[in-house]
Amino acid sequence: MIRYEGQLYRPPSEADSLILQATIGCSYNRCTFCAMYREKRFRVRPLEELEREIAWASTNAAGYVRKVFLADGDALIAKTSFLLALLERLRSAFPDLSRVSCYASPQALAVRSVEEMRALREAGLTLYYLGIESGHDTVLEKLEKGVDSAEMIRVARKAGEAGVKLSTMILLGSGGRALSQEHARESSRVVNAIQPRFVSTLVMTPVEGTPLHEQAARGEVDELTPLELARELRQFIDGLELEGSIFRSNHASNYLALAGSLPKDKARLLAGLDGVLGDPEGARFRPKRLRGL
Ligand code: SF4
Repeated sequence: MIRYEGQLYRPPSEADSLILQATIGCSYNRCTFCAMYREKRFRVRPLEELEREIAWASTNAAGYVRKVFLADGDALIAKTSFLLALLERLRSAFPDLSRVSCYASPQALAVRSVEEMRALREAGLTLYYLGIESGHDTVLEKLEKGVDSAEMIRVARKAGEAGVKLSTMILLGSGGRALSQEHARESSRVVNAIQPRFVSTLVMTPVEGTPLHEQAARGEVDELTPLELARELRQFIDGLELEGSIFRSNHASNYLALAGSLPKDKARLLAGLDGVLGDPEGARFRPKRLRGL
């Protein structure tokens, strides 16, 4: 059987994927807002353990497995030889496998060469989830993301060059009130430079156990209202110049769940947000109890 260690996280779009913990924790583990792997010490799991779990899943659910998500936070940092071996086992166990994906930190993207990412893509690892969070350098620094916007663009483009699809995330509200509009504008700039296949937003939320939560307790964090977040989101979408991407704000942290293809649906998304901003009383913001927080 598959034994999961600690709390498991996956993107919303991996709800029907087989989740395998190729690594435990996140090798970086320093982003101030991230509570996901605080308690875990990073390590790559032995291939033999994963082989046993793949064999179990193959016996019990081979016909159902079309997608595999490699957890935890940063599987791309594992050695390419390890990942290639793992992908080979997955392909032979699951004949209907159509994609394998993982989270990729900017640090992991910096370490992997384009050739390595291309080889991994040819072996089935075709999608990375990348938390850009913000395109604003001051905000990135405050979040302790470990990279500035120029480096974020550089490493993300490496994945594009290797033919790997990117699903990127922007953290609404992470600039606070003072930088809200600049954070939105700069985030559009960075996303435009990367041209990811998928773009989504999350809302920054101080979660217990994180440095962000401590900052919030000291009164150092502005938590934007749903209306301020809608204004920021409008600015962000307005600045997007994408050639073929899918936008979603379906993560539980969002107050508004929007979806569309860009550039096709840009005007519709903006009109929807204008409707919210023009009639805040009538806006249907997702209540806190449904935001899963
Ligand atoms: S790189 Fe990702 S998983 Fe790791 S601490 Fe930052 S946000 Fe969390």
